[in-house]
Amino acid sequence: MVAGLADSELKVFWLDSPAAPDALPPLAGEERCELAVVGGGFTGLWATLLAAERGADVVLLEGDRCGAGASGRNGGFLEASLTHGLENGLSRWPDEIDRLLELGRANFAAIRETVERREIDAAWNERGLIQVATRPHEVAWLEESAEAARAHGEDAVLLDRDEVRAEVDSPTYLAGLWQRRWSATVDPARLGWGLRRAALEEGARVFEHTPVRALRRAGDGVVLETAQGRLHADRAVLATNAYPPLVRSIRRYTIPVYDHVLVTEPLDPERRAVLRWERRQGIADSGNRFHYYRLTPDDRILWGGYEAIYHFRNGMAPALEDHGPTFELLARNFAETFPQLEGIRFTHRWAGAIDTCSRFCVTFGRALDGRVAYAVGYTGLGVGASRFGALVALDLVHGRDSELTRLGLVRSRPIPFPPEPLRYAVVQATRRALARADRRGGRRGPWLRLLDRVGAGFDT
Ligand SMILES: Cc1cc2nc3c(=O)[nH]c(=O)nc-3n(C[C@H](O)[C@H](O)[C@H](O)COP(=O)(O)OP(=O)(O)OC[C@H]3O[C@@H](n4cnc5c(N)ncnc54)[C@H](O)[C@@H]3O)c2cc1C
Repeated sequence: MVAGLADSELKVFWLDSPAAPDALPPLAGEERCELAVVGGGFTGLWATLLAAERGADVVLLEGDRCGAGASGRNGGFLEASLTHGLENGLSRWPDEIDRLLELGRANFAAIRETVERREIDAAWNERGLIQVATRPHEVAWLEESAEAARAHGEDAVLLDRDEVRAEVDSPTYLAGLWQRRWSATVDPARLGWGLRRAALEEGARVFEHTPVRALRRAGDGVVLETAQGRLHADRAVLATNAYPPLVRSIRRYTIPVYDHVLVTEPLDPERRAVLRWERRQGIADSGNRFHYYRLTPDDRILWGGYEAIYHFRNGMAPALEDHGPTFELLARNFAETFPQLEGIRFTHRWAGAIDTCSRFCVTFGRALDGRVAYAVGYTGLGVGASRFGALVALDLVHGRDSELTRLGLVRSRPIPFPPEPLRYAVVQATRRALARADRRGGRRGPWLRLLDRVGAGFDT
């Protein structure tokens, strides 16, 4: 094992906290409500809170603990983008992109407002995101991105090698693109716990350790079957992300892909000073396979991403989270990026499933004659977009014809993944092709060009 990993524990840093609330009891017996929400990640928590604020009688059923899924185990990059970045949005919804950017900024502002009003201690730091180039061809990519960003009203500043290293010092940096607004880092677990508290304060009922095993029509509504009980609801929102879905159509559009994260011990003052990083921006590098990294509130470095792993037949299980070779690769890449930190130890390592879809951003649908709506498929950028996903899902489940439900983003569907065993083969071929493109100056081979032409791809 790589030296720095030897003492690490398989544990989610954010969830390993004294701020974790006690578990709420599972649903037992029969309950009724107007709106059932399945899944207590950000999507489900926002759907519950927003519906409860509007006076609805809401019940949230969470199979584990609220925030135990992707929402409590991510990098905590809270971005305004609803489309997994401007470039992806521009390529798919060019006529709508400016409205999507406005809606994304309004969504970001509404999250900030909720965090303040509800006094959620989410370690909100709004100093932006720096995308760094570490290979020569990525410098030109950043220049193109800067131009596009500015043309669409973003506050994006291009940094040359010295300027980016004056912000954060890594010998690997060749340039940077600092998106100074509409991007924050947060403690995602505390954000989730704060939303859970807010939902309870608004009168929502929340049951934890309550996996929903089946969902079916009943009379004018639906019934949700759980291990010890049954919930009758007029309508239901599914916010189950990468988990095995309760309705079939989700299975075609999303696949669970594991993303891996390391967290170091707290940096001592000398090491901290060497890095600079005074503004504590989030950082991501620019390859097809990219790392994302940031400081935690207690001055550790969270370092994640790069190698995303899909397991045959949508495999998801706790045992799949401890993928040694991927953690070792991450640790080696960390050492290359910050050689000044030689000898630093990692204390936490973990993985989480991302609900990857071929268009890389949230996807909506309805089921059971419109009594059920879902919002899934955020891929790797759902911390902010999940509130928008919840808003749209609430409109869809109530059959509202709103500006949101008329968006092309909401009405269109991604290209589905093929069934197994082709699914596995396609994902592996695409991962290999992306790695190859990174090694070859960014040049995309025939397989990626074909996917680009049909509007499909693989990302995290
Ligand atoms: C390692 C990692 C790093 C990431 N980094 C970032 C980042 O920095 N920025 C960003 O924007 N995005 C990031 N993401 C993505 C982001 O975390 C997700 O898009 C977002 O949290 C999705 O929220 P969700 O509520 O839809 O899903 P989840 O948080 O996964 O919630 C789904 C919930 O549903 C529950 N559930 C599932 N099935 C059932 C059932 N049948 N019955 C009851 N409950 C059920 C699960 O237990 C789970 O709690 C990352 C993801 C991962 C895994």
